Amino acid sequence: MVDSVQIIVLVTTYNRPELLEKRALKSISLQTGKFDAVVLVDNSDSEVTKKKNQEIFEGMFRDGTYLINERTPGAAGTWNHGLNWIHENYPDSWVAIIDDDDEWTPEHLKICKSKIDGNDAVISGIRTVLDGEPIDDRVPNSFTISDFFASNPGWQGSNTFIRINSIKKAGFFDESLLCTHDRDLAIRCLVNEDFKVTFSEKVTMLYHLEKKRESLTMTQGRGKHTGLLQFYCKHKKLMTGDDEKAFLKRSKELFGLDAGFFQITDTSMDYSGFPNIPEVNEKTLQFRLRKMIHTLKKFWWRYRVRKGITKVLGRQFTRTREKIEIDLTYACNLRCHDCNRSCRQAPDGVEIQLEKIQQFVDDSLDRSISWKKIRLLGGEPTLHSKFEDVLYEIGRYKFSHPRCRLEVVTNGYGRKVKRKLLNVPPFFHIENTMKDSDIQPQFYSFNVALKDKKGSQKIDFTNGCSNIEQCGIGLTPSGYYPCAIAGGIDRVTGWNLGRHGIPAEQDDMLDLLDEFCSYCGRFESRYFTPPELMPNSTPGVMSSSWEQIYDEWKARRTSQ
Ligand code: SF4
Ligand code: SF4
Repeated sequence: MVDSVQIIVLVTTYNRPELLEKRALKSISLQTGKFDAVVLVDNSDSEVTKKKNQEIFEGMFRDGTYLINERTPGAAGTWNHGLNWIHENYPDSWVAIIDDDDEWTPEHLKICKSKIDGNDAVISGIRTVLDGEPIDDRVPNSFTISDFFASNPGWQGSNTFIRINSIKKAGFFDESLLCTHDRDLAIRCLVNEDFKVTFSEKVTMLYHLEKKRESLTMTQGRGKHTGLLQFYCKHKKLMTGDDEKAFLKRSKELFGLDAGFFQITDTSMDYSGFPNIPEVNEKTLQFRLRKMIHTLKKFWWRYRVRKGITKVLGRQFTRTREKIEIDLTYACNLRCHDCNRSCRQAPDGVEIQLEKIQQFVDDSLDRSISWKKIRLLGGEPTLHSKFEDVLYEIGRYKFSHPRCRLEVVTNGYGRKVKRKLLNVPPFFHIENTMKDSDIQPQFYSFNVALKDKKGSQKIDFTNGCSNIEQCGIGLTPSGYYPCAIAGGIDRVTGWNLGRHGIPAEQDDMLDLLDEFCSYCGRFESRYFTPPELMPNSTPGVMSSSWEQIYDEWKARRTSQ
């Protein structure tokens, strides 16, 4: 019975061909026990590394299966890519998992296989090796769920020998977690009373740590903090009071994570975000009526902003005191046409300093400002060089304003951004616009300045637009503005008009609206216009003022 069981080895790798070859693959090749197939899933960043990995792998295992991870670009996604493949191709098999930098002793598979009868998983002992020196043996012989809340009692990826159907039933690895995947999997397996785990009670896996390598940085700093917060959010319901106390104590003492961050992980009472845009059937009479009403409103709004009418009715919009948008960086991995931060028209990597974020939080707390929403944008905000530090700094504000909604607004484009998004702690919401190209048909013509149009002298630009009420004031690398778009205009004009501190309560920032709105293509639409009501725009249209602004920006850049 045991002899007929298929054993499939699953290896995963990330950017380290040398370790893959000399540790994981070598130790697989030395196994004294038979296995039926070996699958390598490659999560490396560059094509060169992937090619190298494939050559090494196929050189050592001619019949091996080489796969490229197409799921979430983290450890869990890579394991799941392989597990799904194994489940499809070997649905009744057992899987032995190993990471590229770990090793098995030659008897590992043989010993695990001898223990499988009547079980769902066999967990072997682990030797931790730091910079080549063995420092600790963990040889578990029983587990309770509570053990996994305190720390990891000895169930890791590379000592997991498990029935493919059983790990599938548990839901595979959780791709939304940054780390602690093994503890999370163990808990999900153990909550199922039918799940049978046994132990080889022998050390057959070597877990290598190097002081300089990424494996250690994951046990320190913000990555570890975010992992702990995610784990806590997911499993706190299962924790007893003592489990929770021990978990929080260990997080503070071992990893320096302030207990306050755990208190803000429940975001269910946060102020609401922007509503989702509903699907619209453009053929209905209702839609045609809506479009007609919108056209009539636009006609009226054109008059509404005239100086005479503004004098009588007052300004159409007043900047909010409750919301703020912070442009963290002007670097962006997409260069969309008509980008209202000029990331395509005037690309630049300038970013806000962490100290300015600290100052913003301190000033907000000192002045008891109750922000309902703090949104982080760019550019692509995840590309800020201290992105995670910024998130934790802003998180500090939420300690005393727990309902404040914190948001990261991302284009969700590309592997690097997707990896960074895994690092967003759970006290933040993510608004992912999921862009997949530099053409955005629903964008307005940002670079058409109303001041270049006939009759613009009759317009009172201090009317602003709905952004100053709905989105918030702006904080950018150059200061505070009535909206973040104005700050983006200031970057390319080089006027440097931003306020140096959070604007005073009575400051409506009219001087800035008067200046920047006259250049901003958003002014004409007045309110946020849902995509179905947006007129078809031609990408890249630019009025004369903007041509001049970008010419001068380029000249300044070349002379620097
Ligand atoms: S993704 Fe956003 S910031 Fe980047 S270029 Fe496109 S519109 Fe601009
Ligand atoms: S018109 Fe442009 S610059 Fe003026 S408030 Fe609206 S978005 Fe900001």
